[in-house]
Amino acid sequence: MASNAPVLILLGPPGAGKGTQARMLEEDFGLVQLSTGDMLRAAVASGTEAGRKAKAVMEAGQLVSDDIVLAILKDRMSQPDVAKGIILDGFPRTDGQAAALDGLLSANGQKVTAAISLEVDDEAMVGRVSGRYTCACGEGYHDQFKQPAKAGTCDKCGGTSFKRRADDNAETVRERLKAYHAQTAPLIAYYEGKGVLQKIDAMGAIADIRTALGQIVQGVAA
Ligand code: AMP
Repeated sequence: MASNAPVLILLGPPGAGKGTQARMLEEDFGLVQLSTGDMLRAAVASGTEAGRKAKAVMEAGQLVSDDIVLAILKDRMSQPDVAKGIILDGFPRTDGQAAALDGLLSANGQKVTAAISLEVDDEAMVGRVSGRYTCACGEGYHDQFKQPAKAGTCDKCGGTSFKRRADDNAETVRERLKAYHAQTAPLIAYYEGKGVLQKIDAMGAIADIRTALGQIVQGVAA
């Protein structure tokens, strides 16, 4: 990665909109979304050793071990398409991951450009997550908040094959929220201490959050 390339982190509980907004930032700024959740789901689907170890942990709504996540992320960060800068979505999630990220970046003369916390109400997250589904192309939809213009057809690619995540059910979402508060929320203070934290209200419309995020990114990464 170029040493002046932006490194953005999206922080927030499941359902806060990290994936949706990261994809929009890709479009708006030419950055690359790195979602450790997507990487782990791909590992599970292809039956790698890491995937076999991660599967049950993910289905229970717990966090996969730092070792597995870091190995997958490092491998992805070594690929050439990340050169223009990255948006980390769902990583780091623990103190250990945040420290490892700092180490990885500093080896390349870099540091985190901004950590943006998407601020939401927990109670609303169970409904948000339970209703979501994704096209095979990666475009996200929601039963209530974001239906395709033509029912059953993806706005983005015209595809008709959609899927729902195994862990997007109310019971597992509650476990994921617990894991977020116990292990990930402390990172808000960690990045505040480093002077790179920004907070935005993420309870409103997707388009308004996109605008607010875009202004922040323009300020730090233009
Ligand atoms: P996500 O797609 O970000 O909601 O992640 C889905 C699941 O993958 C989480 O509930 C965890 O089990 C696992 N996961 C994703 N990213 C991480 C991470 N950085 N550290 C540990 N587990 C993760």
